[in-house]
Amino acid sequence: MPPLITREEALALGELEDHQEIEALIDRAWQVRVERFDDSTDMCSLVNAKSGGCAEDCGFCAQSKYAEADTPMHAMMSADQILEHAKAAEAAGAHRFCMVTQGQGLSKRDFQKIVDGAKLVAEHTNLKRCASIGHMSVDRAKALKDAGIQRVHHNVETAESYYPEVSSTVRYEGRIRTIDAVREAGLETCVGGILNLGESREQRVEMAFELATVDPTSVPINLLNPRPGTKFGDRDMMDPWEVVKWVAIFRMIIPGALFRLCGGRNENLGDFQKMAVRAGLNGVMMGNFLTTLGSEPEDDRAMFEELGLNTARQDDNGANPRPDNRAGWLDGATPAQTPVDRLIDRQDEAPMWDPATQLRHKKKESVPPRPDGAPNRGLEIVQVDPRQEAA
Ligand code: SF4
Repeated sequence: MPPLITREEALALGELEDHQEIEALIDRAWQVRVERFDDSTDMCSLVNAKSGGCAEDCGFCAQSKYAEADTPMHAMMSADQILEHAKAAEAAGAHRFCMVTQGQGLSKRDFQKIVDGAKLVAEHTNLKRCASIGHMSVDRAKALKDAGIQRVHHNVETAESYYPEVSSTVRYEGRIRTIDAVREAGLETCVGGILNLGESREQRVEMAFELATVDPTSVPINLLNPRPGTKFGDRDMMDPWEVVKWVAIFRMIIPGALFRLCGGRNENLGDFQKMAVRAGLNGVMMGNFLTTLGSEPEDDRAMFEELGLNTARQDDNGANPRPDNRAGWLDGATPAQTPVDRLIDRQDEAPMWDPATQLRHKKKESVPPRPDGAPNRGLEIVQVDPRQEAA
């Protein structure tokens, strides 16, 4: 589906500051979204199945071994642990579930745990399955498909022209190669990035048109939540009007993709999240993010329902094509018993999402210098003045 606006129009819209003009843009984006997706939604959730100690140097990421930020740290989960998280996600009303691991590749043993976890989730829940496990070959992508994975997530993160600022150890071309491998294996692609890494407005437009060329099924938009002790740890949050404007612009450039808002949405948007839904979203990431806390499931569902959208779960186990499930090829009957009848409304009702255990941050003992020589920033913001501590 080609872009509905030109680069020049996108650049002009990117300059909008007047709130009424931004609201008019949001009205246009809402029409585009409703015409293509009606009242359907695509609510996702994730498990951080392997966390911390990553060998790469992505500047936004607390999991990098080069970041001084604390991060949840655990080895690869077992397939049973993955299933436990999936059940909680389903009970909270999520439609799909992504198994995420740090880094750019898994050992044979860890990959097998993802495969086994995917099979268990397919067998015991009604969730559509996704994976985000870094770079992969066509053979690995095919193995994921055979295990019942429907979609693979692999971000471009930012515009190609800004990418060298974001990571010096993970290459942009490698990302595109992985996305091509995923597509070749017959899987859906989920490709997006993070806004507010220091890119210019022109580079945001560049990124949106690059994504339009990639033409992914799904586009996750993250908003930088600056983690003190990372390269981008001292950046300011985005103005919420700026966020909703850019969600709408992306929707106009990639009209056929399933958009979702993920990390940083609470911190950057606060009460503007409903407006972001009107700007063209199909869903949000429910529950916790990789290293930070998320929203209450009840609030997320309400945000969509108040706009007349349908957040109900479909009981076909992903078998039937719908606007939110285009491929519709996932096999298998709906399991006899899933927690579809009783929704979880608060995170404390699902112990496996308890931040006291799953997001327990650990201090790093030693941190090597970043390969690009850039400092980690933002730690001074949270450091306590020893004179105050003594007082
Ligand atoms: S974004 Fe992924 S690859 Fe980059 S540092 Fe974080 S965990 Fe590693």
